[in-house]
Amino acid sequence: MPYDFNFDLSGIPRQFFRELSRVAEERQLHKRFGLRARDIAERFKLSDATGLDVETILFLMEDLVDVQIQNMNQKERFVATKKRALFLPHCARKHMDGSCKASFDAGVPTYRCTHCSEDCLVGQAAKLGEEKDYSVFIVPGGSCIPGIIKRGSFEGIVGVACGMEMRPALQMIQKYNLPGQAVLLIKNGCANTVFSIHFLEAVL
Ligand code: SF4
Repeated sequence: MPYDFNFDLSGIPRQFFRELSRVAEERQLHKRFGLRARDIAERFKLSDATGLDVETILFLMEDLVDVQIQNMNQKERFVATKKRALFLPHCARKHMDGSCKASFDAGVPTYRCTHCSEDCLVGQAAKLGEEKDYSVFIVPGGSCIPGIIKRGSFEGIVGVACGMEMRPALQMIQKYNLPGQAVLLIKNGCANTVFSIHFLEAVL
């Protein structure tokens, strides 16, 4: 989860995320954020919807906008890549116990999804990645990603994670000069985390 607070934005209307994308573009041009973010947070009644205080919401929105900007900046280079990896968080699996029929390959390390459940977010995302010829990794934590990237000689990376895990991941792919696209969790925690499959599909 690595944020020190829990959040759940999965009930927020998609219009909010469209608005964030617009702000991300605007911010890139004008380097302004705070006032617009406060305005959006109030307009969508985010405090009421999430139970979070305004400062925490602004912190989250900053991460969401930064990722949008990063994705926009990297898009052109990313679409030119051929050998790509998709990293998914194991905590978004439908089941975290033996009901998940994925096997765990400790040598990578990654879970290998067997698509046992149609309504499993990770299963759906893994299927999308496989269909688009990505090497898919369902990782138990962000620390194993550098080794996987190095060994796989990937040219482009897509990662799903919370903002706190995403920051070092983005620094790491910048260090390797790899173009990447990021998808943030909209509900964090140790289990049953959520990301937008539509957003991921648009990014892949
Ligand atoms: S669909 Fe894949 S990740 Fe999801 S519960 Fe089944 S085996 Fe596990």
